[in-house]
Amino acid sequence: MDRRDFLKLSLSLSAMAFLDVPDQWSVSRAAAADSPVSPASLPYAKDALEPYISLRTLEFHFGKHYQAYIDNTRKLIVGTEYGGLSLKEIIQKSSGKPDQTAIFNNAAQSFNHEFFWKSMKSGGGGEPKGRIGQAIEKSFGSHAQFEKEFSEAALTQFGSGWAWLVQDGTALKVVKTANADTPMTRGWVPLLTLDVWEHAYYLDYQNRRGDYVRAYLDHLINWSFAESNLIE
Ligand code: MN
Repeated sequence: MDRRDFLKLSLSLSAMAFLDVPDQWSVSRAAAADSPVSPASLPYAKDALEPYISLRTLEFHFGKHYQAYIDNTRKLIVGTEYGGLSLKEIIQKSSGKPDQTAIFNNAAQSFNHEFFWKSMKSGGGGEPKGRIGQAIEKSFGSHAQFEKEFSEAALTQFGSGWAWLVQDGTALKVVKTANADTPMTRGWVPLLTLDVWEHAYYLDYQNRRGDYVRAYLDHLINWSFAESNLIE
């Protein structure tokens, strides 16, 4: 934690003590205990990714869009064969079934977003070292080639969707998916993702998706998260 983060944390903790804020967290934990489908917490403060992703974007993207996917999933599975299943189980079970599209879309979007929050961190991006760096070099030839393929996937995804770094067997590759589609239904192991729906970047970048992709590659990728997803 740097000094700025420490000050922010101390200020918010003292504000909470002063205002005697009710313990909202224990309330949401109790609600979450009823269902395996519950919102993940954001692994950093909502302003931690500024100036690349603004507080305002995360207020809407995490607070409204993501929450809606979780809420919809929970509503849709009540009293169905999906009740009590985890997100991953719901996704696998509803995948490819035309009459289960709403459940699949909401569950897959819930999973994709949780994966996206974890794919980023403050002070991330750049060229990775360690096991993930070696795996990139082995599969793509160089970090620059990975960046080229990832940017192309993110920029050429027509309309809404996602760009991914995945593990396919022993090799890494870049893929893109449309709308809510997720690589896990094709047997690929997701390592990293970038949300290229317009709601992910429009407030900060408007139509400049390329600048958003560049900021992700240079400043946001959480390479330790990607490495933790590698399968031996
Ligand atoms: Mn999104």
